Amino acid sequence: MFHSALVKLTFLYLIVIMTISLFFCITLYQVSTSEIGRGMRRQQTIFEEFGRPQGLAPNQNMVLEREKQIAESNRRILWQLVYTNIIILVTGGAISYLFARKTLKPIEEAHEAQSRFTADASHELRSPLAAMKTEIEVALRDKNMKAEEAKNVLESNLEEIEKLSSLTSNLLELTRNNGNGLKKEKLGLKVLIDQASKNVSKAAGKKAITVNDSIDPNLVIIGHKGSLVQLFTILLDNGIKYSDHQKKIEITAEKHGHLIVTRIKDEGFGIKEGDLIHIFDRFYRADLSRSRDKIDGYGLGLSIAKKIVDSHNGEIKVESIIGQGSIFVIKLPKYIK
Ligand code: ADP
Repeated sequence: MFHSALVKLTFLYLIVIMTISLFFCITLYQVSTSEIGRGMRRQQTIFEEFGRPQGLAPNQNMVLEREKQIAESNRRILWQLVYTNIIILVTGGAISYLFARKTLKPIEEAHEAQSRFTADASHELRSPLAAMKTEIEVALRDKNMKAEEAKNVLESNLEEIEKLSSLTSNLLELTRNNGNGLKKEKLGLKVLIDQASKNVSKAAGKKAITVNDSIDPNLVIIGHKGSLVQLFTILLDNGIKYSDHQKKIEITAEKHGHLIVTRIKDEGFGIKEGDLIHIFDRFYRADLSRSRDKIDGYGLGLSIAKKIVDSHNGEIKVESIIGQGSIFVIKLPKYIK
């Protein structure tokens, strides 16, 4: 598909270049040939007026020679212009191809990313659906199923449905526009962190993990409240998910130039060096040797977090040591009075 579009666009650019070139060449040919003819004939007139003795008829050979020279000059100009056009055709073809490639590249990349995203999303959607289908089929075949067993099947299906619903809302979040239309306002960082901590308090409580923050209530940023609460909730939720019981999460923040730098430090499993550059990619899940199977997730949280930070013209980075924990560093624009 992109190959044929590339060929078509190359031809289109080439047609434009050749039309302009031919227009100039034809005009140039007409102007120069008529000027040469006029010049030669004028020379002849001058000669006849001043050079030829009175009463003598014009020399026919001279007239013929002049016409020959005019025709010769015209032919030379024509060939020069033909050669020039051939050169323009060849170089114009190459330039058109390069321009067409440059024009189509971002479209091709966006298309590839879209296809990859659709393939990954379908793959992730298939697993819970397949699990539900199998359970329901087995239950339907079992003629002596008790009410208690049927309830278990329904509960397990409900769990899968909850996963599917969280996956689809995450997918929706990723496909939404890049936050350009979001209404940004001045927000106290402490308020956002408090809200995010509240959102994860149940999960933290289950693992007896403490979430502490020492954030100055005067730190004010510019952003979209809902998105930023979601950003900190994702990071805190991950800190809890990827830590053992009874660990701690510390949140600190400070001013740095026109930015406010927030650090979320956990004492979790840490992330391998090779995984660090990929964890913000969609559907990427680092290979955790421990607890890997028990931790639910689709590898979408950090890509949503990155998208939120990008839409605020901020920056998100991670530092991590295996077995010791991770620090997520988020830089967001400070509110300036
Ligand atoms: P999910 O948690 O659903 O797998 P994320 O996009 O939130 O997806 O995270 C991507 C991967 O990065 C996770 O699978 C995990 O391996 C790793 N990760 C994220 N946060 C942490 C953390 N605080 N500690 C250790 N690993 C983490």
